[in-house]
Amino acid sequence: MLGLMQDRPLLISQLIEHAALNHADTEIVSRSVEGPIHRYTYKDCAARCRKLANALTKLGTQQGDVIGTLAWNGYRHLELYFGVAAMGAVCHTVNPRLFPEQIIYIINHAEDKFFFTDLTFVPLLEAVADKLSTVKQFIIMTDRAHMPETKLANVLCYEELLDAENDSYQWPLFDENTASSLCYTSGTTGNPKGVLFSHRSTMLHSYCVCMPDALGLSAMDTMLPVVPMFHANAWGIPYAAAMCGTKLVMPGARMDGEAIYELMETEKVNLSAGVPTVWMMLLSYVKENKKKFTYMRYTIIGGSAAARSMIETFKYDYNVEVLHAWGMTETSPLGTSCRPKKKHENLSDEEKVTLSLKQGRAVFGVEMKIVDGNGKDLPWDGKQFGNLLVRGPWIASGYFKGAGGQAVDEDNWFDTGDVSTIDPDGYMQITDRSKDVIKSGGEWISSIDVENEAIGCPGVAEAAVIAVPHPKWDERPLVLAVKEAGSNVTKEQVIEHLSKTLAKWQLPDDVVFVDELPHTATGKLLKNKLRDAYKDYKLPT
Ligand code: AMP
Repeated sequence: MLGLMQDRPLLISQLIEHAALNHADTEIVSRSVEGPIHRYTYKDCAARCRKLANALTKLGTQQGDVIGTLAWNGYRHLELYFGVAAMGAVCHTVNPRLFPEQIIYIINHAEDKFFFTDLTFVPLLEAVADKLSTVKQFIIMTDRAHMPETKLANVLCYEELLDAENDSYQWPLFDENTASSLCYTSGTTGNPKGVLFSHRSTMLHSYCVCMPDALGLSAMDTMLPVVPMFHANAWGIPYAAAMCGTKLVMPGARMDGEAIYELMETEKVNLSAGVPTVWMMLLSYVKENKKKFTYMRYTIIGGSAAARSMIETFKYDYNVEVLHAWGMTETSPLGTSCRPKKKHENLSDEEKVTLSLKQGRAVFGVEMKIVDGNGKDLPWDGKQFGNLLVRGPWIASGYFKGAGGQAVDEDNWFDTGDVSTIDPDGYMQITDRSKDVIKSGGEWISSIDVENEAIGCPGVAEAAVIAVPHPKWDERPLVLAVKEAGSNVTKEQVIEHLSKTLAKWQLPDDVVFVDELPHTATGKLLKNKLRDAYKDYKLPT
């Protein structure tokens, strides 16, 4: 017997129209690429999304067309997020930090029909435009006064396009499984692969993001997403914010510590989200300038593991709690969130920090398991680690146009490429990327564990740990570390610091100081580049 509930499709148009009606005067504040702070409301945003849909219709956009963007976190990008998807087209966010060849590949592979760009990325597009085979028109996201001289052909001005339209538009109803946005993962090898989200997956993911034990957004919050809208849909925050009427503060092109801090204070931001590298910049700014946070309550860290020293600095020095979360582009991205349970209420502060080092419990909707090399399930004992597999309604079933072949097994389990433990309470802890674990004499050493401890050593700003071939043990760990400005920290001091928490066989064989470490376009350590550079490195032992 079927239930008698309405079969209304879950569509992104409902998000922005809901916000326009129920949170009409809630603000969206952006640091514009042109410079000044821009502010308007969800009601204004929805009206401009409708204008955008009218403009795109006139330009000839059909349902299913892919519309590219190269843009920072800002109000115009938000209009594209909602407007493009709501009309039935696909919003394809391109990561400007990729190499030009990858950008060309991605835009051609996705077959972007129209392309929207912030002023910042006009030169980047000029350099590759003649290799883009599908783009009919470029739209520069600014007003007439700021339109640059450009070599790009077929250029339109965003504000002129919107000014010419009225703000009534009837959003179409269609199947909730229709594609809504597209985001390419920046793997360390091979071409990037496209993850194609649907209206249904985005909406279900948004409900989840708002839950108190997930990211816990609400109409009482002011959220500053530092995580870019060109990386994994800014962790779904723009959609979730519209769902529950959260005030949004968008940092635009200025991601430096000073600019982020200033916005946090002037806009009374109480929660934020980003990868550890941006928090390193923010923390060093507030430390150097002896600042305090007036409103910040908690910050979400994901994308890479949050180190103990960072969690402790936020907590003890600045009274800001860290919420550690894990996910990947293929998981929309939220997979786990590290919220405590009632039973953890009376833990000591130190024990609470230890708990928050874990990546967290699966949010409802995400099933998770760990398996050994033969695919056999491993127990949730917090000790045994294996390949982490996930499945659920916002986990990818395959890559765009079948790239990379089969992405899930016959039971829909997706192999994340991460290695982790899961404890009896369901808390998952990443030990490594499967290709980054260091295999030393039959034992596995977690490069992430060693990195996190190394970063806690006074004088060390950043550290990467890689495997170096070893005649006896197969592989041994090597630490590559960047010193803090003015620090004279030595190799012996780093090893001495590590020996407080690591077993002898886990200690690195050597520490090499470098000026900087290479990162991927999404801020993760580029370990394969380091492995290549140090593959012939002679360890002292
Ligand atoms: P991306 O698709 O670029 O967001 O990258 C996803 C990958 O980032 C995951 O598979 C993990 O390897 C890594 N990652 C994400 N969140 C965390 C975290 N909290 N701790 C450690 N690694 C993480």
